[in-house]
Amino acid sequence: MIPPIASRFVAGETTATALDHARRANEDGVKVILNLLGEHYEERAPADGDAAAYEQLIADISGSGLDACVSVKPSQIGIDVGDDVFRENYHRIAAAGEEHDVFVWCDMEDADTTDVTLDVFEEAAREYDGGVGLCVQANLKRTGDDLKRLADVPGKIRLVKGAYDEDAAIAYKRKEVVNEKYEEYLEFLFDEYVGGVAVGSHDPKMIARAEELAAEYGREFEVQMLMGVREDAQRELAAGGREVWQYAPYGDKWFSYFYRRVRERKENALFALRAVVGV
Ligand code: FAD
Repeated sequence: MIPPIASRFVAGETTATALDHARRANEDGVKVILNLLGEHYEERAPADGDAAAYEQLIADISGSGLDACVSVKPSQIGIDVGDDVFRENYHRIAAAGEEHDVFVWCDMEDADTTDVTLDVFEEAAREYDGGVGLCVQANLKRTGDDLKRLADVPGKIRLVKGAYDEDAAIAYKRKEVVNEKYEEYLEFLFDEYVGGVAVGSHDPKMIARAEELAAEYGREFEVQMLMGVREDAQRELAAGGREVWQYAPYGDKWFSYFYRRVRERKENALFALRAVVGV
């Protein structure tokens, strides 16, 4: 069972607890992106198993009437086993999404996987007519070119700063530079991208910039934040009429995800410490 300390960041271990969480978030006007925890499978069986679990989750979301969708990680559905395994499983999940009218996001992992992830996403976006979305990372030097390639691909793009510690030869390392690039790519998306724009950031500056660009280009956008991070802001933005999606992971492989959240920010570590020592 997930200890209370981790349940700030993880929506339980089962589909039932994840859907309950989505129901509560929906009551606050916040929509939910469910991610079944799991990554870096080196064998085909667990990758196929999680792809099947996503098909079932999509059917369950559809039957529940909730405002929810899914996000999958390439290494969870077979990219480390082989590009074809990833392609096959991603198509299975995207087809289930189309059948049940549930949107399917694809996370972006380390830079070794970017080319294949873009190829598989582009094929699926054209085949499933925009029922899929892809995360792109502002810290990668290649992202300007990738966005030009994606400009006429239907679907949605989630712009994030980038969570992977990449080599300086291929990635911007300084926070200020990543922030500048984030703003530049945000403007590109509002100006040139045919699909939906998702701001995957907790940074109030990036959200404010997106609001300005939305007014300038006469377009809508959605904000995406993680479960357990700035949830007050999520509710406030939603109450103000902005479309807000909360990325909520769940499943029995919760420990490493929780540990990542605690390590990445002092506030989260303090929260964990307070929960342990009871202050
Ligand atoms: P940061 O640059 O970390 O912080 C900027 C400001 O935001 C801070 O100064 C503060 O004002 C505010 N802030 C940030 N965190 C907190 C907090 N915990 N509490 C209070 N204020 C805070 N990365 C990938 O590489 N691939 C993915 O597929 C991916 N998917 C993601 C999906 C979603 C929905 C989100 C939100 C992030 C995703 N990320 C992904 C992670 C992303 O790349 C960043 O590492 C992460 O979001 C931190 O950057 P930031 O823009 O939120 O803000």
